[in-house]
Amino acid sequence: MSRYVYFFGDGKAEGRADMKELLGGKGANLAEMANLGLPVPPGFTITTEACAKYYELGRDKLFDIIRPEVEAAMTRLEKVTGKTFGRGENPLLVSVRSGAKVSMPGMMDTVLNLGLNPETIQALIKLSGNERFVWDAYRRFIQMFGDVVMGVPREEFEHALDAVKKKHNRRLDTDLTAEDLKEVVASFEKIYRKHTGEAFPTDAMEQLWRGIEAVFRSWNNPRAIKYRQIHDVRGLLGTAVNVQTMVFGNMGEGCATGVAFTRDPSTGSKKYFYGEYLMNAQGEDVVAGIRTPQQLTRAASRAWAKSNGISEAERRKKYPSLEEAMPEVFKQLDQIRQTLEKRYRDMQDIEFTIERGKLYMLQTRNGKRTTAAAVRIAADMVKEGLISEEEAVLRVTPEELDQLLHPVFDPKAEAAAKQLAKGLPASPGAATGRIVFSADDAERWAETGEDVILVRIETSPEDIGGMAVARGILTARGGMTSHAAVVARGMGKCCVAGAGDCIIDYKSRRMRVGDRTLAEGDWISLNGSTGAVYEGKIKTVEPELTGPFGYIMRLADKYRRLGVRANADTPHDAAVAVKFGAEGIGLTRTEHMFFEGDRIISFRRLILVAETVKRLRAELEAAGDARARKAIEKKLAAPLAQYNRALAELLPLQREDFKGIFKALGGRPCTIRLLDPPLHEFLPNDEAGQREMARTMRVPVQKIKETVESLHEFNPMLGHRGCRLGITYPEVTAMQVRAIVEAALEVKGSRPEIMIPLVGAVKELVLQKKVALETIEEIKRERKLKSLPFPVMVGTMIEVPRAAVTADEIAAEADFFSFGTNDLTQMGCGFSRDDAGKFLRDYVREGIYEYDPFQVLDRRGVGKLIQIAVELGRKTNPKIKLGICGEHGGEPKSIEFCHQVGLNYVSCSPFRVPIARLAAAQAAIREQAARRAGGKGVEVSSTV
Ligand code: PEP
Ligand code: MG
Repeated sequence: MSRYVYFFGDGKAEGRADMKELLGGKGANLAEMANLGLPVPPGFTITTEACAKYYELGRDKLFDIIRPEVEAAMTRLEKVTGKTFGRGENPLLVSVRSGAKVSMPGMMDTVLNLGLNPETIQALIKLSGNERFVWDAYRRFIQMFGDVVMGVPREEFEHALDAVKKKHNRRLDTDLTAEDLKEVVASFEKIYRKHTGEAFPTDAMEQLWRGIEAVFRSWNNPRAIKYRQIHDVRGLLGTAVNVQTMVFGNMGEGCATGVAFTRDPSTGSKKYFYGEYLMNAQGEDVVAGIRTPQQLTRAASRAWAKSNGISEAERRKKYPSLEEAMPEVFKQLDQIRQTLEKRYRDMQDIEFTIERGKLYMLQTRNGKRTTAAAVRIAADMVKEGLISEEEAVLRVTPEELDQLLHPVFDPKAEAAAKQLAKGLPASPGAATGRIVFSADDAERWAETGEDVILVRIETSPEDIGGMAVARGILTARGGMTSHAAVVARGMGKCCVAGAGDCIIDYKSRRMRVGDRTLAEGDWISLNGSTGAVYEGKIKTVEPELTGPFGYIMRLADKYRRLGVRANADTPHDAAVAVKFGAEGIGLTRTEHMFFEGDRIISFRRLILVAETVKRLRAELEAAGDARARKAIEKKLAAPLAQYNRALAELLPLQREDFKGIFKALGGRPCTIRLLDPPLHEFLPNDEAGQREMARTMRVPVQKIKETVESLHEFNPMLGHRGCRLGITYPEVTAMQVRAIVEAALEVKGSRPEIMIPLVGAVKELVLQKKVALETIEEIKRERKLKSLPFPVMVGTMIEVPRAAVTADEIAAEADFFSFGTNDLTQMGCGFSRDDAGKFLRDYVREGIYEYDPFQVLDRRGVGKLIQIAVELGRKTNPKIKLGICGEHGGEPKSIEFCHQVGLNYVSCSPFRVPIARLAAAQAAIREQAARRAGGKGVEVSSTV
């Protein structure tokens, strides 16, 4: 029989840290902390399997199944705590919290203070001697239960609370007296009845069951679903439910509550025990950002006071650190931080409460961190002997590295910028964008391509969609652990939180900062590393790639088997790629070069006469007598001259391009692809462009129109492009090959690789290769060279399915294959690259494809074509070099596949090179781990 409830407390637990799948992260870690002998308030966890059953069987059937276990656990809890639930002189109050395997901060529901009713209220007042505290707890309970369990609009409670505050002239919630709070409770109960048609439940078990159901239900609330989509969280059973004895940080003297990170989640530094707490408060107060939280250590507190212009005397009096206010508790907490890091071998995010001088641990989990922090923590932990090199490599999520690779503000431009305000450096990076004041607007504006900064008084989980698309986030309220800060760090998004000088008015869509007023659409810039908020746009510069980043990259290089190259078309891109660690270029798309400056004119001249030249040459070949030949030759002379002149003009330009790239590569190999797109792409489509072209070429506009029309294709992607152009116009192939080889002769150490695109039949490759080799021979003859001082490899792309399944024939003629998975996906799945976006999202939602196949390689289909090509190719040419240059070459899941099928290298855009290096290393390490585990495949620990 399945078991659905696991108890913890009293120095032991039935669960363990490795039971996250079943107990959720929170439940498994509470169990682990209890097992470590840490002070955890006792409780129990209802499993994620129960949540799955809730959705499968419905509430009633599930509850019938789990009722005996839950009731037994409650009885045991009463016994362990010596308290009674919902009755008696020493009443037990519990919290009901969600907790899935993967942490989803703030996305699901929680209810606190269950067990309060008229009888227990009185008992607690007697017991605590603090009437105000008890009524405050009860009003919080009604509010939370009403909102979370019964769907009573939250604002109504807030308005009612405000009304009482106003009536009695109280500024803060904490100013309310017990009598005031009784009034609040009375109006809360009325609101509750109005919306639910019933009185607030007084039966504690009923409260509990409803709370449990609310948590299960919240697994599928829209924001939780959206969070899972954004973070690609899949395949989980559901959320667990943690029912735990309440402890109170807001009972008065000697009470506090706080959150802490065992290392700084922004930078990864260990300099301070990083965290915040509030005296006499509940956990929600710390993250709500209404009161100013205090620091844990004296050093951090001093630094905080300094940056906020607070004197030492004021700091000590009003904002003392925990180290100063409660030295014993601080010492115990600091000890626990070390215990937890040793046990979990990772940075922990912990929540604690101090009830009348006694410390309780409420949660520990692997802390969310910025990428900069992730990299530093991983590097430091290897040096501290806490984790192995391989684990360090696995601790950084490849996709996130992106954050470290993008530019930061140019220090000079930043120094010159007008600073508007200063908030907390909640999540590092630099962001420039236009102000929007709501998450919905952020999503709408971003869809039209605008860079936006989401500006909010504070954010809430509903804002998640807008936060995901914003360049940066600015809030007026909230600390380093506020919702905005935590979520932004998780997303790797620049965030400045708690910029109190920003007075935000949602209604008028304006923000006032001192004497400046900014409106929606105005530009601002944020520095998430310093907390500075600037007016206008600020120039950015390239990031540093040394320190811990360099170390992790070196480790990645040590463990990866796949080579990593870049797709780059210019010397600048090639230089960036080399800086990011590319071992060469896997794809230079030469067509982009034809657009630069005046060369488009030369190329257009060629296109204008290309067909005529082709036709007349054919006629000439077929012509019988000398007279006819003469006549054709006469007709051919002018267009041929124009054709040849255009090629002659293009040759030196291309040669210079390649020289620049070879120089930037400093002896690394470079795969250059011959012309690929259909010719019509080089001609103007619109009337104005055609007129302009006619003027420049000095030909009638009609001639241009005719050429455009003659080049029109119904399916250009399947049309006259790739090697098909080279077959028709071998002179273009010859010109490009000549430019490549001549450039390579001029730059010492060059390693050119000539790539023929879009081959589907081996004969295409044979013909194009012949042109290439003949050109090389010609150059050797001209220069009286016996051989070239470098080898020239000639290979092909595999991007037509026919090429994949006849790869044995093609490999016999090729030195290398490069999988062009953009086209291979297009032709393999039959999805137009340019149009399929419209419906692919539906396909993913329906589960027809697991991911958009243009983003993540479709292993089962396109992947199979690759596998077939790899096997067939190596059969006839064991030495063949295999790579990938489609977009998938920079996508971690696809890179893992490339590793598994044994490619030699991946090639991706320069900025993705470090991502690819790391993903390749992770693939190799995971494979090793799986092999060690007997090929069964294991889950290797990775962070967050
Ligand atoms: C491909 O098809 O994957 C490829 C790299 O070529 P392009 O994207 O230029 O068609
Ligand atoms: Mg292609």
